[in-house]
Amino acid sequence: MPYVFEPRDVVSVPVEGNVDRFPVNNLYCVGRNYADHAIEMGGDPNREAPFFFMKPAFAVLSDGAEMQYPSHSNDVHHEVELVVALHRGGKDISVDDAMSLVYGYGVGVDMTRRDLQGEAKEKSRPWEAGKTFLHAAPCSALQPLSDVGQIEAASITLRINGETRQAGSINQMIWKVSEIISRLSELFVLQPGDMIYTGTPAGVGPVRPGDQITAHIDGLPELVFKVSSS
Ligand code: MN
Repeated sequence: MPYVFEPRDVVSVPVEGNVDRFPVNNLYCVGRNYADHAIEMGGDPNREAPFFFMKPAFAVLSDGAEMQYPSHSNDVHHEVELVVALHRGGKDISVDDAMSLVYGYGVGVDMTRRDLQGEAKEKSRPWEAGKTFLHAAPCSALQPLSDVGQIEAASITLRINGETRQAGSINQMIWKVSEIISRLSELFVLQPGDMIYTGTPAGVGPVRPGDQITAHIDGLPELVFKVSSS
């Protein structure tokens, strides 16, 4: 079928130990999925459940690439997160069936123009300007689930220029991976290629041009990228 213009290339991320790449569809993100981060953002994890927002595939930045500092912000923050990549879709998936959708895991950073997000919150506006821009979703190579060991209690950290800024554990997640997939599938029709950024532990803060960011989860490929000026 001819198109009125040539469609853009599929966005993809590498797979550890495999020449094939993982084609990216939608990016779902979980907000306030770690109690200590909910508290640092002024929330109360006992009163407010985690929630979802999205980023487009064009936000993905691969390991080793340079992240362009976005326009319209002087306060771009890092949020290190476990990324869950789906190779199957569906709707109304039960918690018990949820893991059958998972292709593998990676580590990502939910980059956020915190100043624009704050303005959106204040004015009860959508979050896109805060959460979406080119390179707003750096992601490591993916580790296929069959090659992933126990990560339920793995440590998750983010370092800037070698200095630790975020340190937590995957076992602090309020909604676990299977619960996130099940809840998402009630709201949306999940599709192969969807990736889920599952929320961040405490310690979020600003990045600056020249910084080297290292995002790490024990047992998964590491993500390293440099921030360049806009
Ligand atoms: Mn986040």
